[in-house]
Amino acid sequence: MSATKDCQLADVAVIGGGPAALAAALAVAKRGRRVTLLIQDAHASPHLRARDTRTSPDLRARDRRTTAILGDGITFLQNLGVWDALLPQSAALMGIRIVDDRGGWLSAPEVLFKASEMDRHDFGYNVPNEPLRATLLAAAHAYDRITVVATAGVTAILSDADAVVLKTAENVEFRVQLVIAADGRNSPAREAAGIATRRWSYPQVAIAGSFGHALPHGGISTELHRRAGPLTTVPLPDAEAGPQSSLVWIEAPDEAARLMALDDTDFRGELEVRLRGLLGPLRSIGRRGTFAIAGQMAVTPARNRIVLAGEAAHVVPPIGAQGLNLGFRDAAAIADAVADASSDDAGAPSVLDAYGRARVADLVSREIGIDLLNRSLLVDFLPVQALRGLGLHALANSRTLRRAAMAIGLSAPGAVPQLMRPSP
Ligand SMILES: Cc1cc2nc3c(=O)[nH]c(=O)nc-3n(C[C@H](O)[C@H](O)[C@H](O)COP(=O)(O)OP(=O)(O)OC[C@H]3O[C@@H](n4cnc5c(N)ncnc54)[C@H](O)[C@@H]3O)c2cc1C
Repeated sequence: MSATKDCQLADVAVIGGGPAALAAALAVAKRGRRVTLLIQDAHASPHLRARDTRTSPDLRARDRRTTAILGDGITFLQNLGVWDALLPQSAALMGIRIVDDRGGWLSAPEVLFKASEMDRHDFGYNVPNEPLRATLLAAAHAYDRITVVATAGVTAILSDADAVVLKTAENVEFRVQLVIAADGRNSPAREAAGIATRRWSYPQVAIAGSFGHALPHGGISTELHRRAGPLTTVPLPDAEAGPQSSLVWIEAPDEAARLMALDDTDFRGELEVRLRGLLGPLRSIGRRGTFAIAGQMAVTPARNRIVLAGEAAHVVPPIGAQGLNLGFRDAAAIADAVADASSDDAGAPSVLDAYGRARVADLVSREIGIDLLNRSLLVDFLPVQALRGLGLHALANSRTLRRAAMAIGLSAPGAVPQLMRPSP
């Protein structure tokens, strides 16, 4: 027999234990609603439990990656009350350098976007993934309007006109007005809502990791635009041994496999050649992993009292640091839609419509922008390369154009959600 937890305990259920789910739970609670946060139990504690046999080996492995969080995303973390804990572990991004490394006679000049040109100290920060998740989770545990429920998984979701009933693997039921599905790219909740996705892939694999180097990065992230895809270095806080950066190196699958098979010394040598001395001799190579480059977009962000957030709604290639920044904007926009609802019903059709309207322009423009940039590197078609080169020439020579491009990168088109506005 199943036990039902009544909706009076919570207006909203959030499914997922990643940063998008945790941020959405905190944001909706901050705007006044009671939230039940359903987290797969491997993720419910800041310290993953290796003894849990249901936990897959990749979840048990530590996530040593970092995430560049830009502009509004940092303001969001400040307003959620978690930024002070993350700041000492994060590195400021004060500039972004784009180097055309495709070769050939159409090579374009280097472009340096400086935060100071926007009268800012930085564009954002490179934040380590594990502390980010652990800090958001600790804040959710501490928040009186959030009930954290550890579960082996949400197994069934049924929407009707008045509510959604969720069932967990432990046979416990929750009846709520609205479900925020932030349960990752293979989102079971999205499937339960009957929301289809468009998927596409690229002939590329990303190698992600970190490395130490002799020269200071000076807070500058460098993107080398190469024929196989971008190779990006992102500043990390200095280690005792010296400066360090994280790496997202996109390659053709065969070349990525060859690079991954190298030992650290040979890999370091190859990376040093690709970086052309930009960061001086390399000191060390951290653990590396690979990620297939693909895109995925839900055909609608909301249906039947279920809204999608984070990678449940959209997956974009790790180019231009957009993925989680989009997920945070989803979280802040849902909080607005629920708080501004004309009735007490957090899952009313008007709430879902408001959320869809708030997110459509940002999602469409980022999907197209990232796709165009990536494909423009992959094709050798002369007019495309001429256009790309002209664009970089124009950016290198015009402060106005650079400022316009930087403004687009830092926040979404349209109104800024309340929790992404600086507190007075
Ligand atoms: C190499 C690389 C570099 C990147 N760099 C950046 C960057 O610099 N900036 C940026 O903004 N983005 C970046 N991204 C993207 C970013 O990492 C993702 O957008 C982000 O981690 C997705 O978070 P999420 O919370 O949506 O999903 P996830 O972190 O995947 O979380 C999904 C959660 O759902 C849970 N779940 C699944 N099924 C169920 C169920 N049935 N019941 C309950 N829970 C369930 C899972 O356990 C998990 O906790 C990068 C990505 C890659 C691959």
